[in-house]
Amino acid sequence: MAAAKKAFQIRLPPLPSIKDVIKLYKLRALRELSQNFLMEPRLIDKIVNAAGNIENHVVCEVGPGPGGITRSIIQRGPRKVILIEKDRRFTPSLELIADACKNKVDVDIITGDILKTNIAQYIPEDAKTDWLDSPPPINLIGNLPFSVSTILIIRWLEMISKQEGPWAFGRTRMTLTFQKEVAERMAARILHDQRCRLSVMCQNWCNVNYKFDISGAAFLPKPDVDVGVVTLTPLKHPIIKLPFKLVEKVVRQIFSMRQKYSIRGAQTLFPEDVREEMALRMYKMAEIDPVTRPFQIANMEFARICHAYNEIIKKYPEFEHYDYRAQKVGKKVVVQEV
Ligand code: SAM
Repeated sequence: MAAAKKAFQIRLPPLPSIKDVIKLYKLRALRELSQNFLMEPRLIDKIVNAAGNIENHVVCEVGPGPGGITRSIIQRGPRKVILIEKDRRFTPSLELIADACKNKVDVDIITGDILKTNIAQYIPEDAKTDWLDSPPPINLIGNLPFSVSTILIIRWLEMISKQEGPWAFGRTRMTLTFQKEVAERMAARILHDQRCRLSVMCQNWCNVNYKFDISGAAFLPKPDVDVGVVTLTPLKHPIIKLPFKLVEKVVRQIFSMRQKYSIRGAQTLFPEDVREEMALRMYKMAEIDPVTRPFQIANMEFARICHAYNEIIKKYPEFEHYDYRAQKVGKKVVVQEV
């Protein structure tokens, strides 16, 4: 039997433990930046292992904080590590790590907000692969701040749909943490009680894999909730091959009345006077039973509904920009003024 290939390891010179780094640099966790530090090396390694083999890869870590995950990434021999951290108090501890591996791994420390950072500018052009090939040697990894994780994943899904940013380099994979409930929603299949807009959106553009849970007790300070680790690999072809904004609108409105028949939510895609007629027409074109509930609709069926909606707005362009939520807010304002 062939011996199993030993994982490549970069040895870092002795560094103070993460606990000591936090003490040394007086890094009191800030609640407003969702700072919960993962202290246990075994769990840190488990997250990085979930990303698969990253030897010679370009790895972008979101929110490295004091650098526990960063150290584990570097030990696996990546070619380049891009660290994006909003809180500049962590710069000295990250520089300590960069210094410890200089001449072995190229480390970029970027002080900035992940929601405003163009990651692509730090990725070498030669890491690019064709979209239909295997994923490129690029990974996004992060124990994400809860405050930005959902906004970030929605934004990244839109970039995936347009093959922009890190996805201009191919089907770049992600290994990320979320609040357990959010992670469950992302992975929830048809009929699952957590199935929601996020499930349909994530699974339309990615293969979503719920890897494992981490108890809140493993973090310092301990958050109120447990954490789920999820990997996402962009699909070669989305299930619903339509623009992101259109899909998002249709799916959002259908899930807006989660416990009711799905056609009730679908009606809110259209102005009040034509609502019932248009929604029924859309469901007929899509061959969906109007009494189906949102969590009972598979992505292939959402595809038929979205295509039917697309046909309707081509025929009646005045419906395209109809926004039920804006109407509701508008109505509320009028009521308040009276
Ligand atoms: N990676 C560290 C660990 O696992 O122990 C820290 C994780 S902590 C949950 C989230 C990190 O993201 C913090 O270091 C925080 O400062 C950083 N952060 C918060 N908001 C950010 C943003 N918008 N952009 C970049 N980093 C952010």
